[in-house]
Amino acid sequence: MNDDRHSRMHQVSDESRNLVNLVLDYSRRRTLAVDTPLDRPTTEAELNRLAGPTIGEEGIGSARALAIFEHIFAPACITTDHPKYLSFIPSAPTKAAIAFDLVVSASALYGGSWLEGAGVIHAENEVLTWLAGEFGLPAGAGGVFVQGGTIGNLSALVAAREARKATTTARSSDRWVIVCSAEAHSSIASAAEVMDVDVAPVVTGEDGRLRAPGVRAALEEHGDAVIAVVATAGTTNFGTIDDIASIAELKEEFDFWLHVDGAYGLAGMLSPLARHRFAGVEAADSLVVDPHKWLFAPFDACALIYRDPTSGRRAHTQRAEYLDTLTETDDWSPSDYAIQLTRRPRGLPLWFSLASYGAQTYREAISHSIELAREIASEIRRRPGLRLVREPELSVVVFERDGWERADYDRWSERLLDDQRAFVVPSSHRGRPNARFAIVNPLTTFDDLVDILDTME
Ligand SMILES: *Cc1c(COP(=O)(O)O)cnc(C)c1O
Repeated sequence: MNDDRHSRMHQVSDESRNLVNLVLDYSRRRTLAVDTPLDRPTTEAELNRLAGPTIGEEGIGSARALAIFEHIFAPACITTDHPKYLSFIPSAPTKAAIAFDLVVSASALYGGSWLEGAGVIHAENEVLTWLAGEFGLPAGAGGVFVQGGTIGNLSALVAAREARKATTTARSSDRWVIVCSAEAHSSIASAAEVMDVDVAPVVTGEDGRLRAPGVRAALEEHGDAVIAVVATAGTTNFGTIDDIASIAELKEEFDFWLHVDGAYGLAGMLSPLARHRFAGVEAADSLVVDPHKWLFAPFDACALIYRDPTSGRRAHTQRAEYLDTLTETDDWSPSDYAIQLTRRPRGLPLWFSLASYGAQTYREAISHSIELAREIASEIRRRPGLRLVREPELSVVVFERDGWERADYDRWSERLLDDQRAFVVPSSHRGRPNARFAIVNPLTTFDDLVDILDTME
């Protein structure tokens, strides 16, 4: 027995069987539960008090560790797939996607290279090709699933800079520039910071949409120093979609890389209710959409797609003696298309779910959020004392309560969570606080939202 201690954790044994059963049993209960509470965070001190130290030279055993997770740690985490979680961008993974995430873990799949993961890379690529087709990109478009929109945007912008370097006469002392709307996601500024390049934010009008004239002025001002124009296909705060078609038309006059950040909103293009709002996406040189947002996959996954994947590969392939077997072939290795090397095939839960239910079911689920956003917007318009900040374009609804200051919104939001009624954090626009519903969960109902509005009386 003592001889086997070194391999105790890896052996198939009674201990392993028991712990795998415990964990799968918990997973089954959680996945199929209909009444998981919203829950809420607590303090570090409280968690320490309840759980005590869990790590020492001798383990506490998997049953005890799982009990601590189930009864102490998990209830201190907000249930992001709760139908009344309406903050930030919620998560609402399908049952198939959640279940298959377990399979991905159970199989120790490696998704970095074709040599090691051909089968699953084929499946991921089928999803990427399908998405590219939905967005109107030409055959041959492709990319990779990365951790999130932040890494997707950064990887795309690095590829854009490589492409620019290859064509420009701009002096290396010139500062590179990324052009985007002043309402673009914070990850664009973060990417620029990491890349040590500048952002030229274009101020938009009341409706928040970036349009050709503002972009044209920036292109004229910065010329060849512009490595990319970023259009947002659904801002995080409002779901506002830039006028991508008019921006894309500028490609006839100017040579620039068009990146579409659709981390949240581009999923809306799958719905016939919103598809027309995305005209111009088909001209993108690169784009991102996060399956962990409105494509119902578990955390964490962003689909990064290049019009011409060789530009991604040129920018991102890592080279080393120990990688030569991988890089000296023409095989499609996902690691080559973004800032990463080792990777989980994180697109597989989406593949399994899409394959299981079919695309039409996705369109209906996405349409449901858009319809619900419209219905609750009408309700808000009808209610005295409430005012829409903007008409919803997708599934984000932003509104104000007459006379409320930031402190009122904060108190209201805390109360909703205290009462385990909803998770709705305040947002703000141009310095004015507001309330915001981000709707992606197909289980969220009109009555759920009305119930929340009633608490603002
Ligand atoms: C959420 C979001 C991002 C960032 O994506 P992460 O997956 O959180 O890294 C980028 N852009 C937009 C428009 C987003 O909504």
